[in-house]
Amino acid sequence: MRFAPSPTGHLHVGGARTALFNWLFARKNNGVFVLRIEDTDQERSTEQSLDGILKGMRWLGLDWDEGPEVGGEHGPYLQSQRTLLYNTELDRLLKSDKAYPCFCTKDDLDAMRLKPGADGQSTMMYDGRCGHLDPDKARRRVETGKPHVVRLRMPKEGEAGWQDLVRGKLSFRLDLLDDFVLRKSDGQPTYNFAVVVDDAKMRISHVIRGDDHISN
Ligand code: GLU
Repeated sequence: MRFAPSPTGHLHVGGARTALFNWLFARKNNGVFVLRIEDTDQERSTEQSLDGILKGMRWLGLDWDEGPEVGGEHGPYLQSQRTLLYNTELDRLLKSDKAYPCFCTKDDLDAMRLKPGADGQSTMMYDGRCGHLDPDKARRRVETGKPHVVRLRMPKEGEAGWQDLVRGKLSFRLDLLDDFVLRKSDGQPTYNFAVVVDDAKMRISHVIRGDDHISN
């Protein structure tokens, strides 16, 4: 089990509730409760907020078996200290052609925006064009320092699904998902990528979190 707050503000009631459920589940099942700090958003993460989260957890009596201040065999437990690990996994994906560099500019991406929906919001569906570039050409562009992100080459047919212990079988149509970004142009991993690497490396077996994270 893990609780993985971002230190961008106070530990709020919703976060404390998520932490409590994970802690209870771990304690009931003789599991390990990991506290991981998701501080990849360098601009919004603060020391003060991290301190507040740790104090708040202690005040609530939610002790953690692995994490900041206590250590553990799967550390470090701050994502900002795990860049090397993310890059190693990313290189593996690039080498096996499961990921590719994308050089599209903001204007290119804006041109791919879909028409606004009922809520007036438009969404962007990446058309995959950099995934068809000649690999040698793409490599040369990377080597000459051309700004780029790295995208996951997603399968286009079928569904991605899993058995959710609370909601049953959940799935998403793959043709509605695009080749999403794994590493941003500033070299930082995206949330969706870091979370998957960490949950795998930290050997997390169960995750309890809010409904708003289902698509993540
Ligand atoms: N760091 C995320 C947040 O604070 C939570 C991540 C998760 O449960 O995967 O919203």
